Amino acid sequence: MQQWDVIVIGAGAAGLFCAIEAAKRGRKTLVLDNGKRIGRKILMSGGGRCNFTNIYASPANYLSENRHFCKSALSRYTQWDFIALVQQYGIAYHEKTLGQLFCDNSAKDIVDMLQQECDKAGVQIALQQEISNVTFADGQYQVVTPQLTRQCQSLVVACGGLSLPNLGATAFGFQLAEQFGLKVLPVRAGLVPLTWQPSDKAVFEEISGVSLPVTAEANNVVFPEDMLFTHRGLSGPAILQISNYWQPGDELTINLAPEQAIASFLSEQQQQHPAQELKTALAKILPKRLVEKLLELQVFQNQPLKALHAKNIERLDQALSCYIFKPNGTEGYRTAEVTLGGVDTNELSSKTMEAKNQPGMYFIGEVVDVTGWLGGYNFQWAWASGWVAGQYC
Ligand SMILES: Cc1cc2nc3c(=O)[nH]c(=O)nc-3n(C[C@H](O)[C@H](O)[C@H](O)COP(=O)(O)OP(=O)(O)OC[C@H]3O[C@@H](n4cnc5c(N)ncnc54)[C@H](O)[C@@H]3O)c2cc1C
Repeated sequence: MQQWDVIVIGAGAAGLFCAIEAAKRGRKTLVLDNGKRIGRKILMSGGGRCNFTNIYASPANYLSENRHFCKSALSRYTQWDFIALVQQYGIAYHEKTLGQLFCDNSAKDIVDMLQQECDKAGVQIALQQEISNVTFADGQYQVVTPQLTRQCQSLVVACGGLSLPNLGATAFGFQLAEQFGLKVLPVRAGLVPLTWQPSDKAVFEEISGVSLPVTAEANNVVFPEDMLFTHRGLSGPAILQISNYWQPGDELTINLAPEQAIASFLSEQQQQHPAQELKTALAKILPKRLVEKLLELQVFQNQPLKALHAKNIERLDQALSCYIFKPNGTEGYRTAEVTLGGVDTNELSSKTMEAKNQPGMYFIGEVVDVTGWLGGYNFQWAWASGWVAGQYC
């Protein structure tokens, strides 16, 4: 039987970061992962460039049953700490939009940095490990694989959520939590495209590929970003963001032209170009294919602008700024970036990430019921929760 101080299950963002910190404290640390390489999600994140943090990250950007839980970790290991590490490694990066920091070259830069940090601190990593059993006796955890039983004082569960099952995602972290008596809150796919009702599919799939800036609203939460029509439904950053707040059966309210006061734009156009057709005027502020679709749906009737009454303008303003979609569902874990829900934060210490009633067992990263917005927030949670646990495990 192999003896370790710390075993971390999961060589993703949170697990690697925790292992590095633990090993720096002189703890004999092993990371186990079921995949062939470390940091697989990091490698494919941000379109291959990894949106590794957000300069505006704050607890307000996270969803959790207990919205205070993430405060401690996020304030003790901040985005500025991670940025300093990235700078120390000379990794070139840029702000894309809304504080989102991406690598200039490749997400591999971040994984290489983590590998070097692991090597420097003396973290051992074992890949392609299928863990069949975990038990606890006499203050020690036994982690069993077909080849070997390993024993450790501290067990850190960093197995992530259920998104992208073909990248090795499993429910193992949730199962372990339940096995040791921790409550797991219901999980669902987050940061995920929404799908059409069959009737909407027939109408809108023709304009798949059309993208426009919108505000998307559900349950009194609003995100201003781009929306994309796809064959399956609605996507783009505005939709991924709002998907975290959308529940089956809810409507989505979309402002199709949030950057324009539509009524005053149309009144202005009416004065300047009275003979112009309404659809031509609308195509100045909306994608042409969408305008044609709205005409086909009789959201407006095409006519010369001079024929428009103030009441028509008002009605059209209302229709375009509060367009209602009723999605059928989400694309699910196949394309979701994150898993909402997970290990109940009431079971954990926010200071250490240790289970309150299970000494030596820690939960970090996405397996915990803390989910960030789109834009580097989820990695920041992984770094911060991993760093915190690494100080104590
Ligand atoms: C396509 C995509 C793009 C994303 N882009 C971004 C982005 O740009 N910015 C951002 O902030 N967030 C992004 N995210 C979210 C981010 O990747 C996750 O929130 C983050 O990786 C969570 O880190 P984690 O360490 O908790 O889990 P993970 O990174 O999922 O790591 C968990 C590890 O545990 C392993 N594992 C699972 N089950 C077992 C088991 N039974 N035995 C052993 N090992 C196991 C997995 O193979 C994996 O290596 C993206 C997600 C996806 C899917």
